[in-house]
Amino acid sequence: MARIFIVDDVEDNIKLLWYNLEDDGHEVASANSGQACIDQAPAFKPDVILLDMMMPGMSGIETLKVLKTLPEVENVPVIMVSADDSDDSIIDALDIGAHDFISKPFIYPVLEARVRSAVRLKQSQEELGAANERLAILASTDSLTGCFNRRHFFEMSQLEFAKATRHGRPLSVVMLDADKFKAINDTYGHAMGDEALKAIADTCRSCLRESDILARLGGEEFALCCAETNRDGAAQLAERIRQAIEKTTVELDGQAINFTLSLGVTELGEGDISFDQLINRADQLLYQAKSNNRNCVVAG
Ligand code: GH3
Ligand code: MG
Ligand code: MG
Repeated sequence: MARIFIVDDVEDNIKLLWYNLEDDGHEVASANSGQACIDQAPAFKPDVILLDMMMPGMSGIETLKVLKTLPEVENVPVIMVSADDSDDSIIDALDIGAHDFISKPFIYPVLEARVRSAVRLKQSQEELGAANERLAILASTDSLTGCFNRRHFFEMSQLEFAKATRHGRPLSVVMLDADKFKAINDTYGHAMGDEALKAIADTCRSCLRESDILARLGGEEFALCCAETNRDGAAQLAERIRQAIEKTTVELDGQAINFTLSLGVTELGEGDISFDQLINRADQLLYQAKSNNRNCVVAG
């Protein structure tokens, strides 16, 4: 069963196709002009469009051109139906993006087989699109915490860095590292350590703005890139995260732990020509926080 949108200026042609397609279990809608198709097809969400070539006003080819610019239907296969089976019109239609071409008068079972073939193509394209989306998420995400991974963090942050530099806008970086994390693993086991890492990610997420980029850079080290945020703003954010983690108890298998974070905060300055400079500076400030007895924010 597919959703099929028929476009033809001759009512009897529509009726004939409509009854046959409905008999075969398809859901059908129609329009009697190119403009009506453009107005109505997107809302119907068709799997296939059967488009008459020769219509008064807007021709099938012109209609096809417009359909290919509408995001809702640009990937819907269009089968051109026409009495004009000259090579030129077939070439035109296929070049503009028609999926297939069938001549009038057609043999209905052949048309229906072509519709099924077009539906199969659309389904496999959709499956491929969904698989690609899943792959893109996997390739950019840290599987334990759901944060972005190091590679994606640098890609996104470098774009933000370029934007901020170009427009003279503020940008800050926060580096976060769990304190004495090795001791958690050694005392309570790796699974408890993993729970603590998830808690860091969840806590950060609950403190962030939509535009902030959060990543796990590796091990128990996280980073934040905050667009439109100066050092004071980022230091406040870092302090909020520090306090939230301090108050968080992580529980697993009847055991409970508390732990802390050290954080380094810096902002984009005049002399910064690469995002790596900001990261390195934030890392040095984080190192200072570790020297200052840990569980603190050092901004610079
Ligand atoms: P400091 O306060 O100086 O940061 O000390 P630390 O123990 O946190 O730092 P160190 O770098 O010595 O140890 C980090 C530990 O993090 C070592 C490793 O066992 C642990 N770790 C790294 N990745 C993971 C992970 O994916 N899961 C768990 N459970 N532990 C991890
Ligand atoms: Mg650590
Ligand atoms: Mg570390």
